[in-house]
Amino acid sequence: MQGQVAFVAQMINAAFELPRRARCVMIVMDVSDERRAMSFLKRLFGGGEPRDSDAIWLYVRCDYCGQKMKIRVDRRFDLRPDYEQGGYRLDKEIMDGTCFSLMMARLRFDAGQRIVEQELEGGTFLTRPEYERDEPQEAENAK
Ligand SMILES: [Zn+2]
Repeated sequence: MQGQVAFVAQMINAAFELPRRARCVMIVMDVSDERRAMSFLKRLFGGGEPRDSDAIWLYVRCDYCGQKMKIRVDRRFDLRPDYEQGGYRLDKEIMDGTCFSLMMARLRFDAGQRIVEQELEGGTFLTRPEYERDEPQEAENAK
Protein backbone atom coordinates (compact mmCIF):
# COMPACT_ATOMS: atom_id res chain seq x y z
CA MET A 1 0.00 0.00 0.00
CA GLN A 2 2.72 2.41 0.96
CA GLY A 3 4.49 1.72 -2.30
CA GLN A 4 1.34 2.43 -4.24
CA VAL A 5 0.78 5.76 -2.57
CA ALA A 6 4.35 6.74 -3.24
CA PHE A 7 4.02 5.66 -6.85
CA VAL A 8 0.87 7.69 -7.39
CA ALA A 9 2.48 10.70 -5.79
CA GLN A 10 5.52 10.29 -7.99
CA MET A 11 3.39 10.11 -11.11
CA ILE A 12 1.58 13.27 -10.21
CA ASN A 13 4.76 15.08 -9.35
CA ALA A 14 6.42 13.98 -12.54
CA ALA A 15 3.46 15.04 -14.62
CA PHE A 16 2.99 18.44 -13.13
CA GLU A 17 6.24 19.25 -11.38
CA LEU A 18 4.28 20.47 -8.45
CA PRO A 19 5.90 22.74 -5.93
CA ARG A 20 7.50 21.10 -2.94
CA ARG A 21 4.69 21.99 -0.54
CA ALA A 22 2.11 20.31 -2.73
CA ARG A 23 4.21 17.16 -2.93
CA CYS A 24 4.09 16.75 0.81
CA VAL A 25 0.32 16.97 0.70
CA MET A 26 0.15 14.29 -1.95
CA ILE A 27 2.28 11.86 -0.04
CA VAL A 28 0.45 12.31 3.22
CA MET A 29 -2.94 11.92 1.56
CA ASP A 30 -4.74 8.74 2.40
CA VAL A 31 -4.93 7.06 -0.95
CA SER A 32 -5.39 3.67 0.57
CA ASP A 33 -6.61 1.61 -2.33
CA GLU A 34 -6.21 1.53 -6.04
CA ARG A 35 -9.76 2.54 -6.88
CA ARG A 36 -9.58 5.62 -4.76
CA ALA A 37 -6.18 6.43 -6.15
CA MET A 38 -7.50 6.13 -9.69
CA SER A 39 -10.58 8.19 -9.06
CA PHE A 40 -8.40 10.83 -7.45
CA LEU A 41 -6.17 10.80 -10.50
CA LYS A 42 -9.15 11.05 -12.79
CA ARG A 43 -10.47 14.05 -10.95
CA LEU A 44 -7.04 15.62 -11.10
CA PHE A 45 -6.79 15.04 -14.83
CA GLY A 46 -10.31 16.36 -15.28
CA GLY A 47 -11.66 13.02 -16.40
CA GLY A 48 -15.27 13.83 -15.59
CA GLU A 49 -17.51 11.44 -13.67
CA PRO A 50 -15.74 9.54 -10.96
CA ARG A 51 -17.81 6.45 -11.72
CA ASP A 52 -17.14 3.96 -14.46
CA SER A 53 -16.82 6.53 -17.20
CA ASP A 54 -14.19 4.52 -19.03
CA ALA A 55 -16.59 1.70 -19.70
CA ILE A 56 -18.39 1.07 -22.94
CA TRP A 57 -20.94 -1.71 -22.59
CA LEU A 58 -21.67 -4.07 -25.43
CA TYR A 59 -24.86 -6.12 -25.33
CA VAL A 60 -24.87 -9.25 -27.40
CA ARG A 61 -26.75 -12.48 -27.92
CA CYS A 62 -25.13 -15.74 -28.88
CA ASP A 63 -26.54 -16.96 -32.19
CA TYR A 64 -25.97 -20.55 -31.19
CA CYS A 65 -27.79 -20.81 -27.85
CA GLY A 66 -29.49 -17.42 -27.48
CA GLN A 67 -27.66 -16.47 -24.31
CA LYS A 68 -27.51 -12.72 -23.68
CA MET A 69 -24.34 -11.13 -22.47
CA LYS A 70 -23.01 -7.78 -21.39
CA ILE A 71 -19.37 -7.05 -22.12
CA ARG A 72 -17.34 -4.26 -20.68
CA VAL A 73 -14.90 -2.46 -22.92
CA ASP A 74 -12.43 -0.02 -21.45
CA ARG A 75 -11.94 3.12 -23.50
CA ARG A 76 -8.44 3.60 -22.25
CA PHE A 77 -7.04 0.15 -22.90
CA ASP A 78 -9.23 -1.62 -25.43
CA LEU A 79 -9.70 0.95 -28.17
CA ARG A 80 -6.85 1.50 -30.54
CA PRO A 81 -6.47 4.45 -32.84
CA ASP A 82 -7.41 3.87 -36.45
CA TYR A 83 -4.72 5.69 -38.37
CA GLU A 84 -6.24 4.99 -41.75
CA GLN A 85 -9.83 6.09 -41.26
CA GLY A 86 -9.58 8.12 -38.08
CA GLY A 87 -11.35 7.36 -34.85
CA TYR A 88 -10.79 4.05 -33.10
CA ARG A 89 -11.18 0.34 -33.63
CA LEU A 90 -11.94 -2.56 -31.42
CA ASP A 91 -11.66 -6.24 -32.25
CA LYS A 92 -12.80 -8.39 -29.40
CA GLU A 93 -13.35 -12.08 -28.95
CA ILE A 94 -16.32 -12.87 -26.78
CA MET A 95 -16.69 -16.29 -25.22
CA ASP A 96 -20.18 -17.40 -24.35
CA GLY A 97 -19.92 -18.98 -20.92
CA THR A 98 -23.01 -21.08 -21.53
CA CYS A 99 -22.27 -22.92 -24.77
CA PHE A 100 -18.61 -21.89 -25.08
CA SER A 101 -18.95 -20.69 -28.61
CA LEU A 102 -16.72 -17.85 -29.62
CA MET A 103 -17.99 -14.62 -31.12
CA MET A 104 -15.88 -12.02 -32.82
CA ALA A 105 -16.88 -8.39 -32.47
CA ARG A 106 -15.47 -5.71 -34.73
CA LEU A 107 -16.34 -2.12 -34.01
CA ARG A 108 -15.40 1.27 -35.30
CA PHE A 109 -15.62 4.45 -33.25
CA ASP A 110 -15.50 8.09 -34.21
CA ALA A 111 -13.05 10.51 -32.64
CA GLY A 112 -15.47 10.98 -29.75
CA GLN A 113 -15.46 7.21 -29.14
CA ARG A 114 -19.03 6.73 -30.22
CA ILE A 115 -19.77 3.54 -32.10
CA VAL A 116 -20.23 4.15 -35.83
CA GLU A 117 -20.02 0.58 -37.10
CA GLN A 118 -20.37 -2.77 -35.47
CA GLU A 119 -20.48 -6.35 -36.58
CA LEU A 120 -20.54 -9.55 -34.63
CA GLU A 121 -19.66 -12.93 -36.02
CA GLY A 122 -21.54 -15.70 -34.30
CA GLY A 123 -23.86 -13.37 -32.47
CA THR A 124 -26.17 -10.38 -32.64
CA PHE A 125 -25.79 -6.99 -31.05
CA LEU A 126 -28.61 -5.96 -28.75
CA THR A 127 -29.64 -2.59 -27.46
CA ARG A 128 -29.57 -2.16 -23.72
CA PRO A 129 -33.38 -2.41 -23.40
CA GLU A 130 -33.29 -5.56 -25.49
CA TYR A 131 -30.64 -6.96 -23.20
CA GLU A 132 -32.56 -6.04 -20.06
CA ARG A 133 -35.91 -7.31 -21.26
CA ASP A 134 -36.62 -10.46 -19.35
CA GLU A 135 -39.02 -12.24 -21.62
CA PRO A 136 -37.65 -15.18 -23.60
CA GLN A 137 -36.42 -14.68 -27.13
CA GLU A 138 -38.85 -15.03 -29.96
CA ALA A 139 -37.56 -18.17 -31.49
CA GLU A 140 -38.02 -18.59 -35.22
CA ASN A 141 -39.59 -21.97 -34.77
CA ALA A 142 -41.91 -21.09 -31.86
CA LYS A 143 -45.53 -22.13 -32.51
ZN1 LIG B 1 -24.09 -19.65 -26.83
